[in-house]
Amino acid sequence: MTADSSAEDLWFTEKHARSGSSFGLRVKERLHAEQTPFQSIEIYDTTDWGKLMVIDGCTMVSTRDNFLYHEMMSHPALFTHARAKRVVIIGGGDCGTLREVLKHEEVEHAVQVEIDERVTRLAEQYFPELCASNNDPRAELLFIDGIQYMAEQEPESIDVIIVDSTDPVGPAEGLFNAAFYASCFRALRPSGILVQQSESPLVHLDLIKAMRTSMRMADFQTVKTLLFPQPIYPTGWWSCTMARKRADLSDFRERGAATRQFDTRYYCVETHKAALALPPYMREAFGE
Ligand code: SAM
Repeated sequence: MTADSSAEDLWFTEKHARSGSSFGLRVKERLHAEQTPFQSIEIYDTTDWGKLMVIDGCTMVSTRDNFLYHEMMSHPALFTHARAKRVVIIGGGDCGTLREVLKHEEVEHAVQVEIDERVTRLAEQYFPELCASNNDPRAELLFIDGIQYMAEQEPESIDVIIVDSTDPVGPAEGLFNAAFYASCFRALRPSGILVQQSESPLVHLDLIKAMRTSMRMADFQTVKTLLFPQPIYPTGWWSCTMARKRADLSDFRERGAATRQFDTRYYCVETHKAALALPPYMREAFGE
């Protein structure tokens, strides 16, 4: 990543070496930069995308497009589960996923387990709209390692686990392996669902395949990868992978989704179905 300046323009550019591509946003200025014990965090003010949070040189959240990711990390799983009362979010320190989860009135308790408190404190300052539900009495914010937290949970105590993490390097590396999925499996109730951000379906297909294999190794019976746009992430196309202990993931509460009593900007019955549709190259890669 570099912030390149020319005569009139200042751009934040994330260079994605693995895919030989880069993504840039024109910025007005860098508002904040710090090194925490876990990672570097920067905040930019952009000309057209609102605020931008960058962690270790990778784009995380922009004001303009975060709804795509946060809604698709939350609502497909919550409208697939019959009635999710207890939800745990691992990572997600910008609080956007927490806000979406708490739109569901059936949720009685939502815990956000973020390793780096500074991510949340900066989100409160620069993305207050994402933190709108942080004071909801059903919300609990913990600043500890999600791997350890999940290993310590009571068996069969959680309905939905959402892993809203950074890429599988640094503190998030251990969130992408069979040992972590085994902790999640143990902590989920029998109808429980795990959903994890699973990177680009174009350039990270090997990672998605490995995740799916590890989820099955942890005994999850059904695994589905959902696809959705996310302009600020490498290739602009993103995915999340859902795993369920003992039931299907294709059917969801369509009526509940159609008559939902809250606003969404991307999620609806049609985008949920569209996200479940896999193109031939992915079906072949997954052996479906
Ligand atoms: N939407 C983003 C993406 O896909 O790039 C992720 C956003 S969210 C800011 C990711 C968060 O995961 C970061 O704040 C990071 O601190 C957190 N994280 C990474 N490893 C973690 C761990 N082991 N336990 C808890 N949180 C973790």
